[in-house]
Amino acid sequence: MSALRDLLTRRIARTGPLSVAEFMTDCLLHPEHGYYTTRDPLGAGGDFTTAPEISQMFGELLGLWLAQVWMDQGQPTPFLLAELGPGRGTLTADILRATRAVPGFQEAMQVHLVEVSPALRKRQAEALAGVDKTFHDHLADLPDGPLFLIANEFFDALPIRQFQRANTYWHERQIGADDGRLIWGLGPETRFEMLDDRLAGTTEGQIVELNTPALPLAEDIGARIARHGGAALIIDYGDAISIGDTFQALKAHEPVDPLACPGKADLTAHVAFGPLARAAAPAVASAPTPQGVFLERLGITARAQALAQRLAGDALDSHIAAHRRLTHPEEMGTLFKVMALTPPGQPTPPGLDP
Ligand code: SAH
Repeated sequence: MSALRDLLTRRIARTGPLSVAEFMTDCLLHPEHGYYTTRDPLGAGGDFTTAPEISQMFGELLGLWLAQVWMDQGQPTPFLLAELGPGRGTLTADILRATRAVPGFQEAMQVHLVEVSPALRKRQAEALAGVDKTFHDHLADLPDGPLFLIANEFFDALPIRQFQRANTYWHERQIGADDGRLIWGLGPETRFEMLDDRLAGTTEGQIVELNTPALPLAEDIGARIARHGGAALIIDYGDAISIGDTFQALKAHEPVDPLACPGKADLTAHVAFGPLARAAAPAVASAPTPQGVFLERLGITARAQALAQRLAGDALDSHIAAHRRLTHPEEMGTLFKVMALTPPGQPTPPGLDP
């Protein structure tokens, strides 16, 4: 019996069904039983992997992108180099290695990591040993200043709500309990004003999702960048708009029923970039650009060839596979999108569609 399932079914018996967001919040971040709170879920032995864990090339190219944008903005000094949800710390470590030779960059930077998981903070501290850094629970705790921020597979981990359309009204999808099992249900038919703009483009029975906590975060990032300068790079799977049920659970790299093992599987949903872009105004958002296209424009193939010179056998095979995995349309190349936020009046940054 799972301790968290027990807690959730008792909570449901006491106070009624949960929204998907309430369920996700407890599954991912419960102080004792939460998925992220209690483990390092990344890598081959974990439940899922991410671009920086697949290849060092990802972080290196992002590092050079950051350095280029920093130079294009006149090398603001000092500046914040911030990562949201840094996982194992691999991405920031690769960014730092790639920018070591950029004159003035590391002297001017102050590294800030926004991370809620004690288990992962420990991994990040190890990966970034010797680097001056500050941890924060929340983005809002970052100090003011020019902000160069990266968020890779962060927004997909934030809790979403789901709504199923009925005529011009909606039912919120809810999680109830039956005989100790968690089951899907629907809340009462309600007019949610926040969903009025989703009536166009949806039909009866379709599901839409709202990433409620993402919008104030995008607003805060956009306001900081518009006021103090800097840039943000948001990378995740999703598209300009989300439609349909994209709530999913992964365990040992395989999809599982999201209600089956609370706190023991990774839960995510696709990211809708359009609402993030609108929330970030007055900062200017690029188009969500396919990850494969973005990395090719930044020169991943030349970098891959240079690294391949030093490899042979299995190491070379896995390097070639990693390049394909990051860029190929049938792998992460098209499903994942990259969106930049920059101050008004700046040109579209390298690699991105305007
Ligand atoms: N960016 C990393 C890890 C992605 S996994 C990579 O690309 O490998 C998601 C990360 O976000 C984890 O570090 C997780 O602990 C963190 N996280 C999830 N929800 C969070 C929240 N609400 N606030 C801060 N960090 C969060």
